[in-house]
This record gives sequence, C-alpha cells and structure tokens, in this order.
Amino acid sequence: MIIDCHHHLLAENWYKKSLLKDIATNILGPLVKDRLTEDEYNNPEIFYERVYQNVFDETGDLLVKNMKEAGVDKTCIFSFDAELTRGVAEVSIDEQNEKIAVAASKYPEKLIPFYSINPRQNKAVERFKYGLRNLGMKGIKLHPPLGGFLPSDDICYPIYRACMEHGVPVIFHTGSLQPIPSSDIAHPSHVEKVALDFPRLPIILAHFSLTSWEDALRLASKYSNLYFDFSLLFLTYLENPTEAYRRLRKFLDEIGPERVFWGTDGPFYNDIFPTKRWVKTIKSPDPSIYANITFSNKEIDLIMGNAFANLLNIV
Ligand SMILES: [Zn+2]
Repeated sequence: MIIDCHHHLLAENWYKKSLLKDIATNILGPLVKDRLTEDEYNNPEIFYERVYQNVFDETGDLLVKNMKEAGVDKTCIFSFDAELTRGVAEVSIDEQNEKIAVAASKYPEKLIPFYSINPRQNKAVERFKYGLRNLGMKGIKLHPPLGGFLPSDDICYPIYRACMEHGVPVIFHTGSLQPIPSSDIAHPSHVEKVALDFPRLPIILAHFSLTSWEDALRLASKYSNLYFDFSLLFLTYLENPTEAYRRLRKFLDEIGPERVFWGTDGPFYNDIFPTKRWVKTIKSPDPSIYANITFSNKEIDLIMGNAFANLLNIV
C-alpha cells in the first residue's frame, strides 16, 4: 500500500494573499525559474499564476486524480493555521478543517483527514476535540513557525493530552525552508520535551527536519516515539540524487523503516516534482544514481506506506 502522509488542500481564499505571495517568491519561485522567461518571472501576475496553476484544490478532486496516476492508495490531508501571524483569510481555519473533512468523506477510501489549529487560538483544544469527535479527524498537524509557538510551550499540552485520549498522532512542521532566513522555532530540539513528557504519543517530524536532519536523527535515536516523514527530500534529490538516497539509508539504519514515512508536501510541488516521479524515485531507483546504496523490498514497502498504515491501524 502506498500512502502519502503529508499533503495539503488549499484554495486561493484560504490564506492571505501576502502569505501566498511569500511562499511563491521565497520557496516555489526559485524552483520554477528555469521554466519561465525573464519577463514572465518578473511579472508578478504571471509569476503568481504559474506558481499556483496546479495547486489550488479544495475538494480533493485534483489530488485524487494525481493519486490515481501515481499509484498512491491513500493520502493524509490537512491545512495549516496562519491566522494569528498572517491574518484571517476569507475562509477561516474552522471552515478549512470542515472542508478537509468534506473532501475525506467524499473519498473515504482514499483521503485521511488531519486537523490543523494553532494551539494559541481561543479554545484550540475544544475545537480540536470537536474535529476528532465530529469530523473524523485522525491526527493533528501543527506548524510552529506559522503559529508563533514552540512545541514545548505549555499552551500546547492540552492538545497532546487530547491526542493521547483519542490515540492519534501529531505531525510537526520541522526544519527551516531555505531561502527563508532560518528560524530556530522549527528546530527539532523543541520537540524533545514533548517526546519525554508523552513517551507514548507518536510524534512525526515533517521533512526529515530539512537542514537540521542530523540533530533530528540524534534525537530520534533517543526517543522511540519520534517518527519522520521525508516529504521534500526530493528537493535534496534535485540537487544531489546520491545524497538523497544516502540520507534516507542513514535514517533507516539508525531508527529502522517502521518510523520513516514517504510523503509529498503536495500540492505545492505538483509541477516541480510530480508525485508520480517521486513514487518512482523511491520504489524503483535508477541504479546508476544510487550505486552502492541499497534498500530491501520490505524496507521500501514499509516506508512507502505500510509503516504509516501500522501507526494509524489502517488495514
Ligand atoms: Zn507541509
């Protein structure tokens, strides 16, 4: 079974335009630069449109179509809450969570809904519990840099207790996305206190913690309740394919394939690194690239979805 454990749904009116523009300029723009003429790149309207042309999809229809093409069986979907730091958009975070649940109920065999809320929001834990009880949410995605909190902050603790009560995991965005100036908020070290205080809470660190991957891996070898998704490892792959495989091999050697999950961080990279290509990169690597780094079939099956299915008790 192939499961994408990290995927967003969004529409243009889910976030303030200034945030979408920042993401376009700082994160996605440099990756599409070579496909645009200089005039297109320097024209803000055209640039924005091109960056987001295959991204907005609040129903999950585009996602399910892409999954079919790529052979992905299930995808975990969520939003992120930037209301307190970037302003409330036309569609509020509560409405976004409802829409995530609606998409998941339209495709119950394919989409797994996760809740999103900034723990600093008014009645955050009550809202999360509503999501667990009434919207069928299977976990929560927290985004410390966009929420302006640290995972170790007391204000987050009721959220972790609710996860424990309902037996669901928490996913943290970790690592700083270059070239946005590195922000210490997303460093994996802030998760250590949570791992220690909730030894039975499954904590997923997203993106292999990006440039902080070595620190994250050291932490994970100490705490068996830390897991990873390696969405965005394709950014490393684009620059240095051998390094991407080497890093993945290192994680498997240190903590085993049961704690490492494949994911995309879609739909932001739909055009830059299509899901179909990312599946193939891991499932059937080109031997000329990964040379003497090898993965067993069992390892590949686990990281591509079986391990995440085990965590979520999906059969
Ligand atoms: Zn993400």
